[in-house]
Amino acid sequence: MAKLNEYCTFCGRSKKEVSILIAGLHGYICDMCADQAFHIASEAMAKDKKKKDYLFSNEKLPSPKDIKTHLDLYVIGQDEAKRYLSVSVYNHYKRLMQINNDDNDVEIEKSNIIMVGSTGTGKTLLAKTIARLLKVPFAIVDATVLTEAGYVGEDIESILTRLLQVSNYKVEEAERGIVFIDEIDKIARKSDNPSITRDVSGEGVQQGLLKLLEGSVVNVPPQGGRKHPEQKMIAVDTKNILFICGGAFDGIERKIAQRLNTQVIGYAASENTKKIDRSNLLQYIAPQDLKAFGLIPEIIGRLPILTYLEPLDRQALRSILTEPKNSIIKQYKKMFAMDNVNLSIDEEVLEYIVEKAIEFKLGARGLRSITEDILIDAMFDLPGTGQKEFHIHLDYAKEKIEKSENRRLQSA
Ligand code: ADP
Repeated sequence: MAKLNEYCTFCGRSKKEVSILIAGLHGYICDMCADQAFHIASEAMAKDKKKKDYLFSNEKLPSPKDIKTHLDLYVIGQDEAKRYLSVSVYNHYKRLMQINNDDNDVEIEKSNIIMVGSTGTGKTLLAKTIARLLKVPFAIVDATVLTEAGYVGEDIESILTRLLQVSNYKVEEAERGIVFIDEIDKIARKSDNPSITRDVSGEGVQQGLLKLLEGSVVNVPPQGGRKHPEQKMIAVDTKNILFICGGAFDGIERKIAQRLNTQVIGYAASENTKKIDRSNLLQYIAPQDLKAFGLIPEIIGRLPILTYLEPLDRQALRSILTEPKNSIIKQYKKMFAMDNVNLSIDEEVLEYIVEKAIEFKLGARGLRSITEDILIDAMFDLPGTGQKEFHIHLDYAKEKIEKSENRRLQSA
């Protein structure tokens, strides 16, 4: 046993072969193994630190162009919105990096974002795709469920419950996350006249939201809602949380048109009117239109980045079906492939799906439900039959859609 003492427990070299042999409780380590162990440990620790600093090290933060390129993989069109989002998200995280440094003589204010565009044009998809790229906690909340404290519905603070949940209740992580508030237009004041009797669902909620947007410490119910009055609140600072709001703002085109009409009266009026593209007025959206729609000026001031989404035309809808990295058709093909079935679809069928989506006026949202209606029977029948190929032609697709339309008519 005495001999054992003379060997390094790690490499087995004897005392004579090494410079130093350090004694431990149950063995020895030589200078060479200690050196190697030191390097392995340093590397592992550096990796760990890098993970933590992922967002806040300059070289790791994707540039606005990188962000846009990534968005292009998943979202068709919407170039304007993509550019605005890329820049503001990039600036947001640059701002967070600045806070981490000590010499912050010029403080950059945060810039929350508001996106205006019809339903199913990609607002949520854009926000989700960015959050995934940056690997930050991301939560989607619906503004329609919000009410002022004391009324039926969810308290404003519950917006942050989802964010806490996706961050596994790690407050520090949640405090750097992104919250997407959908249907922000639904909390607009019903009238542009502020002197009208206070409406509880609109202005009060906006006032509540204001404090979240501008940055303050709020007490968040960890389980959300009001079902657990005994729950202990968690304090969350919203100063560094990026809020992205989205809404369809149905009818805002009228407000935009009104503003443009009054603006162009007078000098050089005919010149300007000619340039206005009346088929897509959303591109001219300005903060005053949001005010005319019923958002209070304070909220508008806290959402300084205003951008819009284009309506999706036939060509865009057709591209959405097959082009994005996880397009609807690719997803269904994969599902069939998991049952060893090769799914093939005629081009005519894809055109038909687009046609129906336009008819239903649901934007790209309709594409999925229509495709689902066409494929539901096959997804039920095929697994377990051993069939290897499944081809969809136009007659089959039409038959399935008619069947589901009839069923809906009967249940209506
Ligand atoms: P909304 O504008 O109402 O938030 P979403 O982003 O939720 O719309 O879009 C609904 C679905 O439609 C998405 O999950 C996606 O499959 C598809 N979609 C909508 N717009 C686009 C787009 N521009 N590019 C690719 N897919 C889109």
